[in-house]
Amino acid sequence: MTHRRISAKAERFTESVIREMNRLAVGAGAVSLAQGFPDFPCPPELKDAAAAAIHDDLNQYAITWGAKPLRDAIASSTVRHFPGRESIDPETQVTVTCGATEAMVAAMLGLLDPGDEVIVFEPYYENYGPDAILAGAIPRYVTLHEPDWSIDEAELRAAFGPRTRGLVLNSPHNPTGKVFSREELARIAELCVEHDVIAFTDDIYEHLVFEGEHIPLATLPGMAERTVSIHSMSKSYSVTGWRIGWTIAPPDLSVGIRRVHDFLTVGAAAPLQAAAVVALGFPDSYYTNLVAGYRERRDAILPAIRAAGFRVHEPAGAYYVMTDIRDLTDEDDVAYAMRLIREPGIAGVPGSSFFSRPELGRTKLRFAFPKRLETLAAAAERLGRIRTPVS
Ligand code: PLP
Repeated sequence: MTHRRISAKAERFTESVIREMNRLAVGAGAVSLAQGFPDFPCPPELKDAAAAAIHDDLNQYAITWGAKPLRDAIASSTVRHFPGRESIDPETQVTVTCGATEAMVAAMLGLLDPGDEVIVFEPYYENYGPDAILAGAIPRYVTLHEPDWSIDEAELRAAFGPRTRGLVLNSPHNPTGKVFSREELARIAELCVEHDVIAFTDDIYEHLVFEGEHIPLATLPGMAERTVSIHSMSKSYSVTGWRIGWTIAPPDLSVGIRRVHDFLTVGAAAPLQAAAVVALGFPDSYYTNLVAGYRERRDAILPAIRAAGFRVHEPAGAYYVMTDIRDLTDEDDVAYAMRLIREPGIAGVPGSSFFSRPELGRTKLRFAFPKRLETLAAAAERLGRIRTPVS
C-alpha cells in the first residue's frame, strides 16, 4: 500500500518483524524467544555507576563523538581482548553512538554515496537492508549456504563489481550463530582489498563465542585501514535499552561517521557513557562467566526445540537458534509463527524476515535464548506441547 505522506525511502521498508513478534508475544501472554534481549538484570556495578553519574549531575551533552574516558576505555579494552588489534587512537578512531544500530546507519550514511553497492550476506540481521536504503546504497546479497552457512567463493567474487563500495560482515552471526573462520575471513579480506571496499563489521556478539574464536576482520592483512568495526554495550553487558555503541575506524573514515553522527543524534546518554567505562574495565572472569551462562542457556533450550520436531542449526556464537519447521508443518514461517504464539504460546521470528527473497526463509524460524533459566524452562514446557505435527 502506498501511504501518501511518507517518503519513498520509508515506503521501501516495513516495521521490524523481530520487534513486532515480540510485541505480539507480550500482548498474547506468550513466552517470547523472539527479540534478542536479556530478561535478567545487568551487572549491579553498572546500575551503581549509572546512578552515581546521575547523582553527580552528569546531565549535559558529552563530546559528540563520545566522552573521553569512554573512548579511552574502548581503545584499551579492544586491544586487551583481541590479539592483533593494536594502537587504537581514541582521539581519531573511536566514535560513541546510540547503539550499534546508529553506528551502522551513521557509518553507511557517512561513507557511502547513492548508487554505491554494499554486499550483505544472507540470512542477515534485518536492519542492514533499511540502513543501505537510507544511505541510497544498493544491497547485493550473497547467500550463506546450509548446513554450515558457508560462502560459495565464486558467488562472493561475482558480487564484487565496479560499484561495490561496502561489505557488511556480522560474526558471530545473527540469526544463524555462525562464527566465521579465519579462512573465510581471509577470502573476504582479499576481495575487499582487491576491490578497495570498506568493510562494516557488526561485532556486537564479539564476546559470545561457544566454539571457535572471534577474529576481528580488521586484524587481517590490509583490513585495518578499510574496516569500520561496530560494537555495543547491549549484548555483552545486558543493557540493550541503554543505547550505547561505538565504531572503531581509521581516522579518514571516522571523519565521515562523526559528521553524520553529530547531526543524527548529537551523542549517546552522558551518564550511561560514564557507566560504560566501568563495564569495559571488568576482569576477564566476567567474560568467561558470560559465555558459560549463555552456553548453559543454549544447552537448556536446544534439546527442547529439537524434541518438539524442529530441525536445528547449533549456534557456535551469539544467542540465537535458527531452525527449520518443514517436519512440523506445511504452513509458511509467518503463519506458523503466529500459530505458535496462540498455541502453545511461544514466540520466535519468521525466517523470511532475514532474507531479501522471503521464499528463502519460508521454512525457518529463529529463537533467541538470552533468557533466565526459568523462562527457558517455561519455553521448553510449551515446546513440549507441540507433540504432533500441526498443519
Ligand atoms: N546488530 C545485531 C547483529 C543485532 O543482533 C542487534 C540486536 O539484536 C543489533 C545490531 C542492535 O544493537 P544495538 O542494541 O547496539 O543497537
